[in-house]
Amino acid sequence: MICGYCQKAVIRNLTVKELLFPWRLSDFELCKDCSGLFSRIDPAANCLYCSKSGVTGTCPDCQWWQAQRPAHLLHHHALFQYDEGFSEWLSRYKFSGDFRLRHTFNQQVKKHLQAYHGYLICPIPLSEERFFERGFNQTSAFLQAAGIQTTELLVRSRHSAPQSKKNRQERLQMPQPYEVLPTIKHITKRKILLVDDVYTTGRTIRHGAELLWAYEPAEVRSFSLAR
Ligand SMILES: [Zn+2]
Ligand SMILES: [Zn+2]
Repeated sequence: MICGYCQKAVIRNLTVKELLFPWRLSDFELCKDCSGLFSRIDPAANCLYCSKSGVTGTCPDCQWWQAQRPAHLLHHHALFQYDEGFSEWLSRYKFSGDFRLRHTFNQQVKKHLQAYHGYLICPIPLSEERFFERGFNQTSAFLQAAGIQTTELLVRSRHSAPQSKKNRQERLQMPQPYEVLPTIKHITKRKILLVDDVYTTGRTIRHGAELLWAYEPAEVRSFSLAR
């Protein structure tokens, strides 16, 4: 086993399950040192709708979103706090383009997405310009690295300045940047999980969800590595 972040060999005792089913042993996991760089979000102590930490019940952001679209509640789950450790990882993976890091959270993603059996797993798309610049869609890449089958339903038609350069107000006012793909016809009555790398204001995920809702899926939920 190799650490999906520092790329060093992971030395640990195997579990009984791994000894009995060695073919299930994964190629990548986080070593002890690297796993200490990230903070897991505690599902018991966060917003019910977006995983914002330190909030019980519904956070003010989600109350605002629910007032905009009372008919459509969106449940979002995130695994990690967007802190210094996560931001350092993201900058190496996404902005420096270290494609090896798509394996960093293989175990955590695989385990979490077991709860979404039967869902179409749809990554948030990149614009063509951004795709050619980076060479990969960071969200599709970490999902596929974890062995998750993805379905493309959306395409990004509008190329704009990176979200990371915008303040909260500018992010919330962004016009709809996505369009639907012909695959969208098959989503009626299906359950869909929209996936992004980071959830900040919720604007991106909701732009995606708004297009999906028009085709009457049974449910739209969302997931990101960090919040
Ligand atoms: Zn490591
Ligand atoms: Zn919330």
